[in-house]
Amino acid sequence: MCAMEAGKRGRRVALIERADRAGKKILISGGGRCNFTNIYCQPEHFLSANPHFAKSALARYAPADFIALVEKHHILYHEKTRGQLFCDHSANDIVNMLEAECRAAGVQVFLKSKVREVQRTTEFVVRTESTEFRAPALVVATGGLSIPKIGATALGYDLARQFGLQIRPTRPALVPLILGKNDRTQYCDLAGVSAEVDVSTDHHSFREKLLITHRGLSGPAILQISSYWSRGQSIGIDLAPDHDVTAAIRASKVRSMAAARSAFQGLLPHRLAVRWLDLHAPSAWTNQALAELERQIHEWTLVPAGTEGYEKAEVTAGGVDTDELSSRTMESRKVRGLFFVGEVVDVTGHLGGHNFQWAWASGASAGRAL
Ligand SMILES: Cc1cc2nc3c(=O)[nH]c(=O)nc-3n(C[C@H](O)[C@H](O)[C@H](O)COP(=O)(O)OP(=O)(O)OC[C@H]3O[C@@H](n4cnc5c(N)ncnc54)[C@H](O)[C@@H]3O)c2cc1C
Repeated sequence: MCAMEAGKRGRRVALIERADRAGKKILISGGGRCNFTNIYCQPEHFLSANPHFAKSALARYAPADFIALVEKHHILYHEKTRGQLFCDHSANDIVNMLEAECRAAGVQVFLKSKVREVQRTTEFVVRTESTEFRAPALVVATGGLSIPKIGATALGYDLARQFGLQIRPTRPALVPLILGKNDRTQYCDLAGVSAEVDVSTDHHSFREKLLITHRGLSGPAILQISSYWSRGQSIGIDLAPDHDVTAAIRASKVRSMAAARSAFQGLLPHRLAVRWLDLHAPSAWTNQALAELERQIHEWTLVPAGTEGYEKAEVTAGGVDTDELSSRTMESRKVRGLFFVGEVVDVTGHLGGHNFQWAWASGASAGRAL
């Protein structure tokens, strides 16, 4: 995005990519269909030490701008849920589109070119294994640390440090959580079971699907909350939001395990309902015991043992401190001509197309300032 915007303005642009194709993460995104933006994208869908930083770029390159580009290339797309736009056919359409725009803007793309080092003399000198590039401006768009097997490197953070820029500690985000031993024993044989829940931690909450996995919890609800979770913290899960699960038991003539099973199975997936009652059913069905059962189903409190790490994380939270950058252009305040865009910056989106929108918006901001 940055290269094509700069190319359109007549700049001579070299796009240096270590892989054999640029935009490989786009290809694996959104289950291969790329959730390329979210029509409701707002600054509050992002985490950053400075929640105001992303506003300027997001305002100047909106979801509608990217949608216009997608439509110009006749790419078919649909809204899946909650404003999330996906390609009808394949994420490849988006990469093809960006490649075509870069070609049209005269951008030279250098593939299989891993950047080894950068020096600054009177200009930036970028060295790969086989060649050297010199330019008055350098945009670092190296992404985060997630999914190392498709080429993530720490180069962006290393360069920031090299040039004296502060980094906010990085951590895996939008990542499945691993449960402690006891919880794993109690629930993980239910792997594959999913339910719509409210999940919360640290004053943030999301209502989405939860999925039980072999090692813990995943699904959109858990990915979202993982970005706000830190080790040692608990998460709270309401397994039956807005429902009075025990009402049917209280109303039934005979209060029994059978009545409880029928009430719980009406609202929870069958296997989870049975397991929940095996673990939590009271010895007597008193009003007080039912109130406690009701509370527990809405306040399942867990302390995850950890996350599945960068191997499974969709994004890296933290990164180049936004205080170091101009929010209008993404240029370093300390080093003229040095820019950072996309995920390497301490701006992390919620699930649902926000991370790409940030990549497009921050890339466009820098490209238009070059
Ligand atoms: C499985 C998965 C699914 C996702 N799905 C979505 C989704 O549907 N919607 C959404 O909004 N977000 C999604 N994301 C997040 C999104 O992909 C990223 O936030 C986005 O790609 C960040 O863009 P970027 O340009 O900053 O970095 P990247 O897309 O990571 O690009 C960085 C590029 O820099 C290259 N590079 C790194 N180091 C070097 C080096 N030393 N020399 C040369 N090149 C180098 C890399 O090869 C890479 O191509 C998903 C992420 C994953 C992992």
